[in-house]
Amino acid sequence: MKFLPLGGAGDIGASCYYVEAASTGIVLDCGMHPRKTGIDAMPRFDLLAERPVDAALVTHAHQDHLDALPFLVQAAPHVRIVTTPQTRALAELTLHNAAGILREQYADDPTITPYSHQEIDLLVQSMEWRAYTERFDIAGYRHQGREPVKASFHDAGHILGSSSVLLQHDGHTVFFTGDINLSSQQLLVGCTLPEGPVDTVVLECTHGATNSVTLPPWGVEAKRLAKEANAVFGRAGSVLIPVFALGKMQEMLATVFALMRKGSLPEVPVYTAGLGKKICMVYDKNRFVVPVANPDIELLELPQRNIFDVQRPEDYFRSPCIVLAASGMVVERTTSFGLTRRWLQQKGSAIFTVGYMDPNTPGYRLVSARRGMSICLTDTLPPQSVECDIIPFRFSAHSRREELLSIVDRLSPSRVVLVHGDEPAIHWMGRAILERHPAMKVHTAEVGKEIHLS
Ligand SMILES: [Zn+2]
Repeated sequence: MKFLPLGGAGDIGASCYYVEAASTGIVLDCGMHPRKTGIDAMPRFDLLAERPVDAALVTHAHQDHLDALPFLVQAAPHVRIVTTPQTRALAELTLHNAAGILREQYADDPTITPYSHQEIDLLVQSMEWRAYTERFDIAGYRHQGREPVKASFHDAGHILGSSSVLLQHDGHTVFFTGDINLSSQQLLVGCTLPEGPVDTVVLECTHGATNSVTLPPWGVEAKRLAKEANAVFGRAGSVLIPVFALGKMQEMLATVFALMRKGSLPEVPVYTAGLGKKICMVYDKNRFVVPVANPDIELLELPQRNIFDVQRPEDYFRSPCIVLAASGMVVERTTSFGLTRRWLQQKGSAIFTVGYMDPNTPGYRLVSARRGMSICLTDTLPPQSVECDIIPFRFSAHSRREELLSIVDRLSPSRVVLVHGDEPAIHWMGRAILERHPAMKVHTAEVGKEIHLS
C-alpha cells in the first residue's frame, strides 16, 4: 500500500490524498484551498498522470475536502465516488453554491474551467453512498482478480455525515481520520472509532499547536456566551455571530435555542438565511438516522427571521436580536462581511466570533481588534473605528490535541502519518506521539512525497 499526499499535507486546505493498493487507485478527499485562487487552490492532480484513479472517497462536505471533486471528474470521468448519504445530500447544496462563486472568480482564469450546475447534478447522481460501518469493496480495473480493497466509513463527529475511512488490503489496515472530533457539540455526538487493530493512522492535526485551555468544553463556552449576550441585551444592543454555513451555523442555532429553553437567554428574535438554512433541512431529515445528542431538536421548527427580509441594517438595532450570518471568517462579499462593517459602528452591540480565523482573512483582523481601536477589514478598505464589543469564543468541531493523542493510544498503530495542520501543529503532534510511543514510525506528510505503508 502506498500513500501520496496531493494537497493539505503541511497546511489546512485542499485536503486530498491518494492510496494505491493492488493496482487500485483511491483518492481520499478532494478539497479546494479556501484562501488560494486558480490552480494554486487545487490538489496536485498532475501527480496522478501515470497512476490508476478508480475511486474517490469523500469524508465530508466542507469546501477544503470536497470542492475540487468536479475537477477530478473532469480529469477522470470514470472515477467511482463513494460517501455517506448525508455527505451526498450536503454536497448537492454546497457544490451548487460553489459553482456560482467559481464562475465569478475564474471568469478570466485560463487555468481553470469552472463547473456548471448541470455537471454538479450529474456528479451528485453518480455518487454512491454507504452508511457508517458498512463494508464495501473497491477493485480497480487493473487489479486483475486480486483481492479488492475493503473500505468502510466511521462517524467522525465533526459535521453531519462526516466520516473517517478504514481501508484494508492484504493484511494491512489504514485508518484515515479526516476531520475528527472526539467531543460532543450541541447537536452532534463525538466520533466512533473502529474496532480491531490498525497498522497505519493518517491523523489530522488541526489543533496540534493549540493549548487546550483555550478550547473549553462546548457547555462551558455556551454558558459564557449567555453571560456576554445578556450583558449586550441589557444595554439594548444586538449580537452578530459570523458562522460557517455548514456545521457551525446549525450547532450555534441549536446552542442559542437550548440557552433560551433553559431560561439562560431571553427569547430575542434570531436571524438566519441562505445556504445555512437549506443545510438545516438536511440536518433535520437525518436527526433519527445518525447519532445526534438530541433528536428532538428540529432546526427549521425553531422560530427564525430571514436576514434578507430586513430592509435596512438599522432595523437590527431597534431592539435586541441575534444574527447568525455566513461566512465564519468574515470573507469579503459575504453576508457576515457586510453586517460586520455595520456592526462595528454600533455602540452597545457586539460581534461574537465562534471559531478559528485564518490569519489571511478579515475575521482574523476582527478577532484581534477591540472597542476603541481602529480596524482595516481588508487592505483596500479605509480604517474604521471599532464602536461595538468584539468577543471571541471557541466552539470547536475538531479534537483537542490530547484527544488526537488518545486516538493514537487506542488504535495503537505501528505507523502514523501527520496531515492537515500547519508546521507547529504537525511538529507538536510528532514529538508528543514519539514521547509516548518511541517505537512508532511517525511521518510528516509532504505533497508529492510517496510513503510506503506496507
Ligand atoms: Zn471540516
